[in-house]
Amino acid sequence: MEERLQKIIARAGIASRRTAEEYIKQGRIKVDGQVVTTLGTKLDPEQHEITFDGKSVTLSEEKVYILLNKPEGYVTTMHDPQGRPVVTSLIKKMTPKRVFPVGRLDFDTEGALIFTNDGDFAQQLQHPSNEINKTYVATVKGSPSKAKIQQLEKGIMLEGRKTWPARINRLSSRNNQAVLEITIHEGRKRQVRKMFAAIGHPVLHLKRVAYGGLKLGNLSMGKARFLTSKDLKRVFSKKKNLYNSMGSG
Ligand code: URA
Repeated sequence: MEERLQKIIARAGIASRRTAEEYIKQGRIKVDGQVVTTLGTKLDPEQHEITFDGKSVTLSEEKVYILLNKPEGYVTTMHDPQGRPVVTSLIKKMTPKRVFPVGRLDFDTEGALIFTNDGDFAQQLQHPSNEINKTYVATVKGSPSKAKIQQLEKGIMLEGRKTWPARINRLSSRNNQAVLEITIHEGRKRQVRKMFAAIGHPVLHLKRVAYGGLKLGNLSMGKARFLTSKDLKRVFSKKKNLYNSMGSG
């Protein structure tokens, strides 16, 4: 968003707006390497390099957190060289800030995806030692036996490494398909799909419905909302049995 230069300098905590005007007139402010002495020059501080006496002027940026209900058919990236639809296009109207997705969902997976400009938060969320649960609803081919589900719950060998225990609840079984809820805290590439494929029940449809204790709820497909500080606490809350705590919405 464009703002007057003196306002940006004041917002960065360098000086009052009035003093900032003096600095501008004195030629002490440069924008992209050029001295700017015109008061009222408007620019977007996120798009330009501003310096005061040669030192970079940085705004301590407000942190934003967004939850998107990602539809199928979107790549989790900022830009796709192949020109496929990208998830960032679905949230760009919400903020002018440069937010990035935390982790990824496959092109053909839908559901909860968090975006932020807070690098520390993103790292915490993805760090394996924090064991943040992710819950998915998977529709699979056929109806896995109890024994097979127990295998996944205990952990199976996948690409030479055993998976951590998973929690699985069967939600329904009919027409040679089963719908299961699975909670894992690992984030290997296409992990849920690979786990079900490994027991002979390939995934037909996959949706992430919760991040820790934060549920996707009734957020419509393709829609996004800002997360509150309560929501952020929910992400990190550890519930022993997520399934029992999940109501509708
Ligand atoms: N597991 C998968 O297989 N796909 C996803 O997008 C996320 C988890």
